[in-house]
Amino acid sequence: MATLEVADLRKQFSIGRPAIDGLSFAVPAGEIVVLLGPSGCGKTTTLRCVAGLEHPTSGEISIAGHVVSSPERGILVPPRLRDLGMVFQSYAVWPHMTVRQNVIYPLKHRKIARADAGRKVDEVLELVGLSEYADRPVVALSGGQMQRVALARSIVYRPQLLLLDEPLSNLDAKLRLRLRDDLRVILKQTGMTALYVTHDQAEAVVLGDRIGVMRDGKLLQIGSPDEIYNRPADLFVANFTGATNELIGTLVERSGGFGVVDFGDGRRGEVALLHALNLGDKVRVALRPENIAIGKQDGVNIFPARVVDRRYQGTQTVYDIDLFGRRLEVLELGTAARHQVGVETSVSLPREGCWAYRDTGPSSYD
Ligand code: ATP
Repeated sequence: MATLEVADLRKQFSIGRPAIDGLSFAVPAGEIVVLLGPSGCGKTTTLRCVAGLEHPTSGEISIAGHVVSSPERGILVPPRLRDLGMVFQSYAVWPHMTVRQNVIYPLKHRKIARADAGRKVDEVLELVGLSEYADRPVVALSGGQMQRVALARSIVYRPQLLLLDEPLSNLDAKLRLRLRDDLRVILKQTGMTALYVTHDQAEAVVLGDRIGVMRDGKLLQIGSPDEIYNRPADLFVANFTGATNELIGTLVERSGGFGVVDFGDGRRGEVALLHALNLGDKVRVALRPENIAIGKQDGVNIFPARVVDRRYQGTQTVYDIDLFGRRLEVLELGTAARHQVGVETSVSLPREGCWAYRDTGPSSYD
């Protein structure tokens, strides 16, 4: 049984369109599910509904098999009875207390015997790497350490479900990466079930056993990082997870999971079909910058192109190329910028990395 089940959840605030619009997903016991999406897509509202801090308009939320929210059935369990841990963007720690006092606080409320509580606190401080800071006032810690205290305080009583809302976004870039990697190890060591929301795709991939991509209050796709990255369900998911290049054409052949797209002027290329398309459909083909190879002469989908700009970034170089009159971005790893601006060259587009979707009108990349 999944620890968290959300079924057809809706939240309509007094103004605007629904913040959550028919959301259904489950977080199986011991899994980390990340809700990923742009600002305003409804991630935080979803988390707040699960926590009981927001009252859904309709739909059902169950935790460990118990319905905690169902407006239709008149059920609304208050937050403190949902057995949750929560970690937010801001470090919710008590500034006048030491690390140990902060972390032991939830155990005092749960009437845990003092010796047991002390042992649990020691264990969890060890887990988050703060043992040697136990008796420091929290105000004498760095941001990353404070967020570790907040995490320790949320997991010390072993809640059934941990909710995390962009917990890394107030940290500087280096700390963010470190804590991101540590967080996954810590959560996996505790075997905790977690729902994590972020707009950062790299965070989602590192942390999530599964990722749900949201837009406008709806879940577009939920799957493993590999599914989300290598078989995006639609153009938005492809774009949002980094396939920022698009070519436009018409589907002229179809066979199994692949097809042929006419890009105009007799230029045809092989593409992967990740959803049902009909012959004659106008399509947009999404491509990751790192999947395009410049200067390759053999294989399928070799086309002439021109390098129009390049940005050397040390360990990688980003090129802008002109292909079929569209500007595409290409990313090449390595410390050498190999291609000159202005050269006519050839590019190769691997067909597994050319994902064709029905063209439903201009996108943000036009
Ligand atoms: P962010 O990453 O910026 O926090 P989000 O994906 O978490 O974004 P939400 O905060 O869940 O998005 O907001 C979803 C939508 O609901 C937005 O359009 C927002 O303006 C709206 N919204 C949120 N809270 C309220 C409120 N109290 N009253 C009216 N509208 C609200």
